[in-house]
Amino acid sequence: MIASIELGGRERLVDLANGASLAIPQTAGGSHPKFFVAEDIATEPLQSGGFTGRVAGGGSCNVERVHTIPHCHGTHTEGPGHLMQEAVPVQHQLDLAMIPAIVISVFSDQDGSDHEDGYCPVIAAGSLEIPGEARAVIIRTLPNDADKCRRNYAHAAPYPVLSLEAMDRLVAADIQHLLIDTPSVDPADDGGRLARHRRFWSMQADDSRPATERAGCTITEMIFVPDSIADGLYLISLGVSALHSDAAASAPVVYPIS
Ligand SMILES: [Zn+2]
Repeated sequence: MIASIELGGRERLVDLANGASLAIPQTAGGSHPKFFVAEDIATEPLQSGGFTGRVAGGGSCNVERVHTIPHCHGTHTEGPGHLMQEAVPVQHQLDLAMIPAIVISVFSDQDGSDHEDGYCPVIAAGSLEIPGEARAVIIRTLPNDADKCRRNYAHAAPYPVLSLEAMDRLVAADIQHLLIDTPSVDPADDGGRLARHRRFWSMQADDSRPATERAGCTITEMIFVPDSIADGLYLISLGVSALHSDAAASAPVVYPIS
């Protein structure tokens, strides 16, 4: 199923039958990444009156209660409400259109890191070649170990972060949506500054409001970009859950553009 679209002033083809998910599968009991917390995703059958939500336990159907933390347990999309007193839901100004996105594989440099970066390896601005038509950037950090899908970040080496200049480059290129396969765009502990989140939403350090033109921008963390997805241009649907919160679980899907 090939669709013809106009992008950047010329005709391009999108393979709508060939979508690929960037979401990490999450399985209760620990088959998922863990960031900032020790607990796993957990489920339990609903018990309500005489009803039990487990067929294997004699119930008529399965109804689970799920305990999870979107920021900590897997692929999730957050908006500026993540840093705002109002905790505006990410769905508030969410772009439901298909978005032109560029997949970029990047190396990071341990030598460039310092305490300001939490000693995380740093991805330089020069690693980001962004075509003019892209409004989303999908970052695949190298090496691309499948372990990213179940990594406990408390026990792992520091993950890469974009340099502040790289964040500025994204904003200058009018990138509205950033997706990355690390658990946060900031180091796990940067003293509460969240400097890269603030740069992306053009927030001042002493003001927790985004610039007007950045209020609909999102950051998606803990994606996994399989090696079968080549670097290049795609259309992306962010697939954000309708459970309103500053961050929500998401299942982004990319469709190749030729
Ligand atoms: Zn987050």
